[in-house]
Amino acid sequence: MRVAVFSTFSYDQEFLDQYNTGHELLYFPQPLTSQNVILTKGFEALCLFVNDKADREVLVALKANGVRLILLRCAGFNNVDVEAAAEMGIKILRVPAYSPEAVAEHAIAMILTLNRKTHKAYNRIREGNFSLEKLMGFNLHGCKVGLIGTGNIGKAFYKIMKGFGCEILAYDPFPDQVLTQQGLIYGSLEDVLRDAEIVSLHCPLLPETSHMINRETLKLFRRGAMLINTSRGGLIATADVIAALKSGRLGYLGLDVYEQESELFFHDLSGDVLQDDLIARLISFPNVLITSHQGFFTREAMQQIAETTFSNADAFILGSVLHNEVKP
Ligand code: NAD
Repeated sequence: MRVAVFSTFSYDQEFLDQYNTGHELLYFPQPLTSQNVILTKGFEALCLFVNDKADREVLVALKANGVRLILLRCAGFNNVDVEAAAEMGIKILRVPAYSPEAVAEHAIAMILTLNRKTHKAYNRIREGNFSLEKLMGFNLHGCKVGLIGTGNIGKAFYKIMKGFGCEILAYDPFPDQVLTQQGLIYGSLEDVLRDAEIVSLHCPLLPETSHMINRETLKLFRRGAMLINTSRGGLIATADVIAALKSGRLGYLGLDVYEQESELFFHDLSGDVLQDDLIARLISFPNVLITSHQGFFTREAMQQIAETTFSNADAFILGSVLHNEVKP
């Protein structure tokens, strides 16, 4: 099958080439948009990532160009209009789970960094500054952690935080019976936000979760609480979070995702003037840590993404059951 792979970097090409099961892959470094959809002419399938945009306008053009399949090399599918794709007869297949531990471990790396300020200590020591002033952290042992979303990544996060000796309270509209039997306590979203010293978001971006962290819900947070988002930027109303950081309501913020990330993340913009004033303000806070959507980025996850992407493509060609299909 001829597959146009968008948003490709060297690491994508390395793993896709290694695990290719015989497809003809053409790599495009740029993300798919309505402006460059012409590039898809003559391809039966596309392989897309988190910031490729397949909205209705793009999907209409894809259908006209003969595209029949979108292989998402990610779990989230908020960047694809699934209903429009169904109308166009374009199948969407995704990688529902790839090393959930990779993302959970990254969330914990952010918690540890923000708390114990190892990034600041690293820079200080390199400049011969061995002072401990302003580096004080807190014990994770006994700390109250709020877990929003207890799917694959939330479960992995729960196991690790339990190992640290944290007290965990979770919110998920579909509580997990196995976790409940293991002792996890569920509460309402409001209870979790009120109780926790650290809140970590592990739910998908849906119309009902869009801006779930906003001016109103931030009022529920404990003063000085830590918020970690490794899920999707749109879960957070960024301007409201900036106000909460300024007032001290939020004491720490760790973001691996950002609502306007498609203009920024994955690119080297070090020679450019930053046009996004919200992220510029976020970067200026001493208690904010931002990473560029790298939660998934481990060797194990890249291998699983490539393997599942090709098994999805093969199932489509063979007319087998499409286990990883995204339907409206
Ligand atoms: P999952 O589908 O296994 O779990 C999602 C959980 O969220 C489910 O248990 C679901 O019931 C719950 N949920 C649904 N609506 C909710 C709501 N309103 N409030 C709270 N919980 C709700 O997904 P996952 O594999 O655990 O991934 C979670 C999210 O992580 C994905 O949606 C994706 O956006 C993000 N992600 C980020 C990276 C990264 O690199 N940073 C990588 C993979 C996934």
